[in-house]
Amino acid sequence: MRVARRSTDRKDPPQAVETPSTPDRTHCPPDEKVRALASGELSDPSIEEHVRECSWCSAEYRDHQRDLESNRFIKRSTYGLYVVILAIIVVEVLRSCHR
Ligand SMILES: [Zn+2]
Repeated sequence: MRVARRSTDRKDPPQAVETPSTPDRTHCPPDEKVRALASGELSDPSIEEHVRECSWCSAEYRDHQRDLESNRFIKRSTYGLYVVILAIIVVEVLRSCHR
């Protein structure tokens, strides 16, 4: 049993909110594997199963998926922008040729 002590010589920060205990993540796969799984580069049934059951890894997995999804979107929109710029250049060149 622990008795709450009030130390007068040392000022400890007040601990109003108890920090949640860090979960045991020793069995978690490395982050790169979770990312590879999210991107579809890796298919490892044991890791897939772990990600489904581990709330920490499933959160990371979703994060990676969102990340990859937005990367893909940025790439696609950059490509679309190039096409538009190219089209404008072509139109301008054709117009100047007809003058
Ligand atoms: Zn995990």
